[in-house]
Amino acid sequence: MNAIWSFAVKKNAVLAAILTACAALAAQAETVTVYSSRNEQLIKPLFDAYTKETGVEIRVLTGQDGPLLERLKAEGANTPADMLITVDAGNLWRATSLGILKATQSKAIEEHIPVHLRDPEGHWYGLSVRARTIFYSPARVKPADLSTYEDLADPRWKGRLCLRTSKSVYNQSLVGMMIAQYGEAKTEKMVRGWVANLATNPFPDDTKMLEALAAGQCDVAVANSYYFGRLVAAKPDFPVKLFWANQNAEGTHVNVSGAGVTRYARNEKGALKLIEWLASDKAQKMYADKDMEFPANPKIKPNDVVLGWGTFRPNVINVSKAGELQGKAVQLMDRAGYK
Ligand code: FE
Repeated sequence: MNAIWSFAVKKNAVLAAILTACAALAAQAETVTVYSSRNEQLIKPLFDAYTKETGVEIRVLTGQDGPLLERLKAEGANTPADMLITVDAGNLWRATSLGILKATQSKAIEEHIPVHLRDPEGHWYGLSVRARTIFYSPARVKPADLSTYEDLADPRWKGRLCLRTSKSVYNQSLVGMMIAQYGEAKTEKMVRGWVANLATNPFPDDTKMLEALAAGQCDVAVANSYYFGRLVAAKPDFPVKLFWANQNAEGTHVNVSGAGVTRYARNEKGALKLIEWLASDKAQKMYADKDMEFPANPKIKPNDVVLGWGTFRPNVINVSKAGELQGKAVQLMDRAGYK
C-alpha cells in the first residue's frame, strides 16, 4: 500500500516536473518584438521586470522616430515587430495614418488610461504624460506676470522668449492643439507674436533652451516638463522655475509617450498583454519615475520632484487631435516665419 502510494506520489511529482518544464519552455518560446524610439535605458528595466514576471522574452530594436516608422512601413507584412513604442501623439498619429498600427481593444487598458490619452479607435495608448508648459527665470520674471501661451506673444516679452525649433514634433503638437482650440487665424497671430519676441534663434532641443534661459539669454521659454525635471535632479539650484500655463483657460498642453500593436504583429496577443502590463499600476509607477513624467494612469502618483511642481489642470482635448492637425501646424509655423 505504502509502496503503491509512494509510486503514485513519485509519478505525480514526475508529471508535475514535466509540466513545469513544458510551461517554462512555452513561456521561453514566447517573444514580443518591440520597435522603440524611447531610449533603452528607460524601457529596459521595465521590459526586464515583465520578462521576470511572465517568462516572455522581449526583443527591442531602438531607433529614431522618423526612420523607425519608415522601416515599419517598408517591412510591411514581413516586419518582425509586434509593437511600437514612441513619444508624442503626433508620431503615434502618423504611425496610424501610415497604416502600420492595428486597432485593438482592451478593457484593462481602458480602465487604466483616461480616454483623452488614447486613440479613439484603439491604434495606440498613452502610457506616460508630459506637459509642455512655460518656464521662467525667477530673478527676472514674477509668476504673476505669466498666464498663457498666447500671452507670450505680447510685445512686453519682446527679446525675452526662447523657443525650440518648429521642426520639433512637440511644437507641432502644441500648435496643432492651439489650432483645435482657437482656429488657424488666432493661432497664426499668436505664433507671429512669438517669433517677434524671440531673444535668439530657436534651439535644437529643450535642454539647451532651458540652459540658455538659466544663463540669462532669455526670461521665458516653453519646454517639456521632464527635461526640466532632469536638469533639477542633476542640479537642485538650477535657476529656472516651472509655471503651469493656461490654468484659467483650457488647461496646460499635455502629450504622451505611448504604444500600439503593429498591423502585421505575429504575436498580437502578447503585444497587447505587454501594453496592458505597462498600463498597470505597478508598471506605471516605474515607467513615469524613470523619466520624470506623469503616469498616464491617474491613480498613480508621480515621483517627488514632479510632485513638487504642484497640481495643474491639463487640457483634456484628445491628444490625437495634435496629430490630426500636425500638417496644418507645420504650414502655419512656416507662414509665420517660425524656423
Ligand atoms: Fe523628449
